[in-house]
Amino acid sequence: MTNPVPARLLALGGASLALLVSPLSAQTPPPPSAVDLAQRGDDLAWSITEDLTTEIGQRMAGTEAEAAARKWAVARLQSMGFANVRDEPFDMSVWVRGEEEAWLTSPFLPQKLAITALGTSASTGAKGLEGDIAYFESFDALVAAPDTQVKGKIVFIDHQMAPAQDGSGYGTYGRGRFTGANVAAKKGAIATVIRAIGTDDHRNPHAGGTNFEPGVKPIPAGAISNPDADQLVRQWKRVTAGTASGPLRMKLVLTPRNLGTKKSGNVIAEVPGRDPAASPVIVACHLDSWDLGTGAIDDAAGCGIVAAAAKHVMTAGQPRRTIRVLWAGAEEVGVFGGQAYFDAHGTEKHAVALESDFGADRVWRIDFKLPDSAKALSDRLAAAVMPFGVVRGRQPANGGADIGALVQAGVPAVDLAQDGTRYFDLHHTPDDTLDKIDPVQLRQNVVVWSAVLAILANSEDSELP
Ligand SMILES: [Zn+2]
Repeated sequence: MTNPVPARLLALGGASLALLVSPLSAQTPPPPSAVDLAQRGDDLAWSITEDLTTEIGQRMAGTEAEAAARKWAVARLQSMGFANVRDEPFDMSVWVRGEEEAWLTSPFLPQKLAITALGTSASTGAKGLEGDIAYFESFDALVAAPDTQVKGKIVFIDHQMAPAQDGSGYGTYGRGRFTGANVAAKKGAIATVIRAIGTDDHRNPHAGGTNFEPGVKPIPAGAISNPDADQLVRQWKRVTAGTASGPLRMKLVLTPRNLGTKKSGNVIAEVPGRDPAASPVIVACHLDSWDLGTGAIDDAAGCGIVAAAAKHVMTAGQPRRTIRVLWAGAEEVGVFGGQAYFDAHGTEKHAVALESDFGADRVWRIDFKLPDSAKALSDRLAAAVMPFGVVRGRQPANGGADIGALVQAGVPAVDLAQDGTRYFDLHHTPDDTLDKIDPVQLRQNVVVWSAVLAILANSEDSELP
């Protein structure tokens, strides 16, 4: 073991243990480790998150606000002492929301709903549209339905997502948002409204993208809040029970617009390694956000976490490998930044990739997708994070959206899974604001990330080629 950093990290259990593994420390105290630095009342991730959400706020990809965020990010990362800080621009098609209103208009007097348009939704036109609702209890029920049940109607997809520590409901329930409108459009629906993909009981609809296949003409698509969906379902039950004379009808006004092709960009910064031949470690987040809140948990905090950890490793002493920090642009609206990074850098060698994009609550599990040569390395990583309440997972790491193309191409990955129990209360809503971040849990993220990043950035080529 030529590398001193992991040895120091073994001492995380307490100061007395540190003395045992560093017998010379009485004469020459070792330099602080990245974790020591992160533990000293660190507020670096907080200050990045606070500044970004306060000075920029909402920053939809491809808009003036996102351009301002990138300018801000370059200056911020430069001032932190990172090298090779730059904004790598790319083109993207930009969608922005307009008016958004909805009413239940039958079988009772009109009642207004809290709705938001889904990304890439078509416009209803300023006058809106009105139609009968075709109710589906789930995305799968919509897929199974004959076209005749859908044609000419406004499709409603129910199915409330339940909270889970690992956020696993998102993949299953999220399908209604990801492709529900596409399925409905192909069956002849005039619009789609879903129960928002969220676990809260606030009258906040959750925004998010929806995807139409090439050749499918987009239709208006929106999400209503959970309490509004409950209200719709109660009316639906009265109609189907015959206690209210139907049909159940909705009026929708959604006027989003496409602004055409605009610039977004990936902001990149580096901690240069002392071995220029060693492949770099990449740590990612995304700088863009949805526009209803200020993108604090999604994903200003992630950018704060990865940059703070990289900074602490840099301060503790030059790592063997270069650490590349990627603050990706345009994740929310189609992972255009991750794709642009892959197009520009996918042929370069990357030792390992990590991403923070699941809020700011504590890291509770570490997962690996590493080569066989990294068996001992993964044991060291798991041991280093255990003192902070992080358990070793049994499933392979899957990376994250912005590093997804890299990982798919074979780049190893480590996941530091955050507690997602309340993530989907806030995700893509007006409630995604700074006050929802717990500074204590945010600091735990930085400590865990610093420990992991210090070990990875000093790993041997025999472990991670
Ligand atoms: Zn995100």
